[in-house]
Amino acid sequence: MRQVAIYGKGGIGKSTTTQNLTAALATHLNKKIMLIGCDPKADSTRMLLGGLAQKTVLDTLREEGDEIELENIMKDGFGGIHCVESGGPEPGVGCAGRGIITSINMLEQMGAYTDDLDYVFYDVLGDVVCGGFAMPIREGKAQEIYVVASGELMAMYAANNICKGVQKYANSGGVRLGGVICNSRKVDGERELLEAFAKELGSQLIYFVPRDNIVQHAEINKKVVIEFEPDCNQANEYRGLAEAVDSNDMFVIPKPLSQDQLEDLMMEHGFLGI
Ligand code: ADP
Ligand code: MG
Repeated sequence: MRQVAIYGKGGIGKSTTTQNLTAALATHLNKKIMLIGCDPKADSTRMLLGGLAQKTVLDTLREEGDEIELENIMKDGFGGIHCVESGGPEPGVGCAGRGIITSINMLEQMGAYTDDLDYVFYDVLGDVVCGGFAMPIREGKAQEIYVVASGELMAMYAANNICKGVQKYANSGGVRLGGVICNSRKVDGERELLEAFAKELGSQLIYFVPRDNIVQHAEINKKVVIEFEPDCNQANEYRGLAEAVDSNDMFVIPKPLSQDQLEDLMMEHGFLGI
């Protein structure tokens, strides 16, 4: 079982990419998958579940106490993907990262990590600075990290920070960076920039996902692109991403850049198109 965490800045496209990637792994490569949403927004599984508002683990615990069954918190979605949302505390109260810790512990106790699973994915809020959000990597749950980024400075800044977290825990545990996924924002020279960035990290740009409005159409229809329009180009791209992740054999301890290095890199590559 490969346990994979997807990190990246808020709004960069983690949940979109993760749901489409897992849908492709399930339907194109026949993999058995559990996807655990680790964001208080609890929208990590919405398109796989056809918009069905998944009751979060924390809400279920609050309402039903400790006597909950696996079927209360885990629902099967598109491609037979087992979907879970950790949820979060009431806004302004408590650490949101705690939801992740509680959820993963609950799922383990309830036997959700079955041997037939090929993959467990964690879709994690963009910030690994808070302990709770680092949990999947800190506790050695996920061995494999992918960072979603674009050519925008803030997305690369966040990606670099995430790599600092990965580096920290990699030295004490087994977690490794599997690569950078570019979710394009159509920035000039974006592919070259992200390739150079990943190389500086000692890693790779594992896939370049184009920006395409079909993603929004599918999203409004509460579907992943692969279900909404299986023959379109973007569906092919997500299948390509799935193949790249499934056959990946490059796992490294990343070497994060300094702020100066990051800005130099942007000057060098990011504006080649202008
Ligand atoms: P995150 O989970 O990182 O906060 P989301 O996956 O919710 O981000 O994505 C934010 C928005 O970006 C979504 O509304 C989605 O429709 C859009 N989006 C993500 N990826 C793409 C893409 N490749 N092409 C077009 N729109 C995209
Ligand atoms: Mg999200």
